Amino acid sequence: MAHPMPREIAPGVFWIGDCLAQRHKGKIYHGYNAAFLIAGETASCLVETGHPKDFPVIERHMNELFAKGVAPLKYLFVTHQETPHCGGLGRVLKTFPDAILCGDVSDYHLAFPQYEHRMRSMNEGDEIDLGVLFPGDGFAYSHYHEDGHCGLVAEEATSLDLPDVSSTFADLALFWTKFADMNAYCDRLDHLIERLGVKTIAPTHGLPITDVKATVPKVQAGLKAAALMPESGTNEKVPLTSGAA
Ligand SMILES: [Zn+2]
Ligand SMILES: [Zn+2]
Repeated sequence: MAHPMPREIAPGVFWIGDCLAQRHKGKIYHGYNAAFLIAGETASCLVETGHPKDFPVIERHMNELFAKGVAPLKYLFVTHQETPHCGGLGRVLKTFPDAILCGDVSDYHLAFPQYEHRMRSMNEGDEIDLGVLFPGDGFAYSHYHEDGHCGLVAEEATSLDLPDVSSTFADLALFWTKFADMNAYCDRLDHLIERLGVKTIAPTHGLPITDVKATVPKVQAGLKAAALMPESGTNEKVPLTSGAA
């Protein structure tokens, strides 16, 4: 059964946001543009802002958590400059006037000059050790609404064919994977996971991974399979029906 959000996927790490519906193989195919609230003792950090359409949901989820005693929002961290990841940046900074943007702040000041004084660049080596990897577009895969996978972690969605949905996402959205050696990428990913001691993976577009050893190889199998297939084109169109039934 689907699980309601917000959902605590690791101690103090809350998965928030909403599914985004598309059509695929005649079913309702859900993607995530998730955000994560990390609760600290005196402050919280929001990782990703979600898609602009999700901001009301994300704001509601955050306020629910704050009402339960989660420390106030102090930090916003976005993985990169794409709408599903940072499209709510201005809204978050406006709604939470004590929050600052940290990490790779790049040129967000060009879009939001009024918040430039609240943007702090973090240097390589600055770290917060949470045991959770926030890979942004990594581990991107959709799930079928009809299968009740909404809000589940990857290991609970037992009927989800992870290699298949991973290769489909790569085919539809991560075209570069067809032109790179995915074996080398997957090997480097294994080393990274080992070096960082990753225990939980919180992807923006996939279901969170709580058993890294068991689940990561399935996603890697999908990436490697997708690299060998030609591109299949864009989303299926919903068939048009004419006249009343
Ligand atoms: Zn993305
Ligand atoms: Zn869903």
